[in-house]
Amino acid sequence: MDSTGTIMTARILDGNLMASTISQELRERIAKLRGQGIVPGLAVVLVGEDPASMQYVKMKGKNSQDLGMVARTLMMPESFSQAELIELIAELNADPRIHGILVQMPLPKHIDPQTVISKIDPKKDVDGLHPMNVGRMLSGEAGGFLPCTPHGVQVLLARNGIQTEGKHVVICGRSNIVGKPMAALMMQKQKDANATVTVCHSATKDLASYTRQADILIAAMGVAHFIKPDMVKEGAVVVDVGVSRIDDATAPRGYRLVGDVDFDKVKEKASAITPNPGGVGPMTRVILMSNTVLAAERSIAK
Ligand code: NAP
Repeated sequence: MDSTGTIMTARILDGNLMASTISQELRERIAKLRGQGIVPGLAVVLVGEDPASMQYVKMKGKNSQDLGMVARTLMMPESFSQAELIELIAELNADPRIHGILVQMPLPKHIDPQTVISKIDPKKDVDGLHPMNVGRMLSGEAGGFLPCTPHGVQVLLARNGIQTEGKHVVICGRSNIVGKPMAALMMQKQKDANATVTVCHSATKDLASYTRQADILIAAMGVAHFIKPDMVKEGAVVVDVGVSRIDDATAPRGYRLVGDVDFDKVKEKASAITPNPGGVGPMTRVILMSNTVLAAERSIAK
């Protein structure tokens, strides 16, 4: 409700629509590369049989194929060792048909993610998680790869005309793949950033006192429907990264996926909001495709 008592309904920041626009732009770049004898290639490696990860990996493979790229989806058993994974990465690093490598997280407990990520050639690290690319992002240096989910959020905001400069961005979550890089991107003295950033996490006291200050609230905790309307400032922009399963007897599989934001109620208070599903997820995947095309372009740049 605004100050006149009128109920507002937020503008929907449609990630599917934005991803399809960006895919169209990528098709043109891919056609140009093909003209030069290069077909961008993405290898996605999964270890284990986590159902959600298997689904994500399949979707990434399908997105690559739909764009006419080379897609290698490597599904390894849970018993696959860290040494075997490192050997596989070395093969992919050396394969000229592969321009991008993504190792799906989370990995089984016997594999250390940081050790594995550090073995990916930074020039093929299209997930943007190699320490060299993380360092470049943090120092605002060009030439690396930006991590897919936070950069997807940044692009979704920017292309919807949502200004971040001078705004207070509050991020709930501080993981290496979402929260921390999201904060690093938003604080840069650069276009589509230049925000004042607050990062909240499980040790934050009175979290709502921070979320209520947000001009742009980014929820990346993985706690279903955690963000309620009383935690959101009137007219804020709300981005929902989280994905959780909740039981739903009416759903075909007995569950459905929901975000961190209580969408139906928060949309009455926000000025713009991402749906979930259909917001950040498709943006994450299209940025992965975009990074892979960029890697292929760089592979032939003089
Ligand atoms: P993560 O590694 O589990 O990190 C979750 C973060 O949220 C941690 O920093 C944690 O704090 C914080 N947190 C958890 N519960 C909290 C609470 N009650 N109050 C305050 N902070 C809390 O997860 P992630 O990898 O960052 O992913 C976050 C969510 O986004 C997950 O649901 C994941 O599935 C989803 N995701 C979606 C996409 C997409 O494309 N849509 C991509 C990546 C991830 P501590 O650090 O103190 O533990």
